[in-house]
Amino acid sequence: MSRSIPRLILLTVLISWPAALAQTPSPITEAVKEIQNNSKVKAANEYIDRNRAGILREWIQITEINAPSGHEQERAKYLERLLRQSRLQNIHYDSAGNLIAVRKGTGGGRTVVFDAHLDTVFQPGLKIKATVKEGKIYAPGVGDDTRNIEALLATIRALNAAQIKTRGDLVFVFTVEEETSFGGVKRFVEDNKSKIDYYIALDGGYEGFTYAGIGINWYRHHFIGPGGHTRSRTPPYSASLPLARAISRIYDLKVPSNPSSNLNIGMLGGSEVVNAKASDAWFTVDLRSTSNEVIADLEKKITVILEEEAKRANMSLKTDVISTSPAAVIPGHRDSDLVKISEAVHRAMGFDPPITATGSNNSSVALLNGIPSISTGAGPCDDSHALTENCEIEPLYQGIKKILLLELALAQL
Ligand SMILES: [Zn+2]
Repeated sequence: MSRSIPRLILLTVLISWPAALAQTPSPITEAVKEIQNNSKVKAANEYIDRNRAGILREWIQITEINAPSGHEQERAKYLERLLRQSRLQNIHYDSAGNLIAVRKGTGGGRTVVFDAHLDTVFQPGLKIKATVKEGKIYAPGVGDDTRNIEALLATIRALNAAQIKTRGDLVFVFTVEEETSFGGVKRFVEDNKSKIDYYIALDGGYEGFTYAGIGINWYRHHFIGPGGHTRSRTPPYSASLPLARAISRIYDLKVPSNPSSNLNIGMLGGSEVVNAKASDAWFTVDLRSTSNEVIADLEKKITVILEEEAKRANMSLKTDVISTSPAAVIPGHRDSDLVKISEAVHRAMGFDPPITATGSNNSSVALLNGIPSISTGAGPCDDSHALTENCEIEPLYQGIKKILLLELALAQL
């Protein structure tokens, strides 16, 4: 009897404890809510609402300055002029052509970088004219990444209008060559690595964010044989034979969906004419995974298949590496302060955020350099990298408020 009472108490505690836990918001959630309810932050949000027409106009103006990778100067100059009206410090270009501006903190806080890329995928000389129709803007580049450039400009003005000071520095960087080589972000991270606490890449996204980058490896594999006329002695075969056998076997490999992984063979080539055996038959492999172990394992299996099929056809093998970039993963990052704060910000703004490890943007370069980083964006858009690209207008204002709250939660009020 005397032993059953404590057991009963223990049982009661065990039953009620998880419920109590679920009801108590975490200190991070509390802190984010407190920032959101701050009167100056409310004033900043009201400023954004009052300036919707101006934000929309400016978004269109920037979109209409085409900025193909490597040709970002005209758009950068336009932004530079706007930044100079916004009481920022140390506005300058680095050696890669990135445009940088600092909003100094009062001291003692984290240094947080917010990045939006200047460049587009469209050819030089393309005349861009945006059209507004049924609540959407249509224009190449309007979403990727101009919506996020505009979101940063809008938050800078709102912070100034509401006279908000952060403890940490907010560093705004408008990067070049995101779409091609990551040349801009690589230069910036290399120059500033030791000074950056958090790196936020605004690129794509709206309701959710990514906290890791997917690894992407591209190869071109060749089977090399003697070739010859169709009527020449067979074997030797056309090099297209081991190619076909290899592709079929590679597609039989098990590609896991968790961790998220993909394999695609998209391009192939052989003889230039109908009446010749291919002496060089080739195909490309696009291999992606959030796990470097999965990539390494699949690469090993693909190599075995290629070697076996080359040997079987009595041919040789050649592999060109088109490009490789490993999965950008920081161990434990999913449970880090940055990810928790970002999640709390998204929830505070009314989102139920998808949080994924499949980013593929400037954030990966920061992560690969050991800098805690996420990527997100300020609004929902469709058809990126296409002439039909378009964005919804209305959600952008909510997206801008989300970016503002993220800036304040990370750089600290
Ligand atoms: Zn982009």
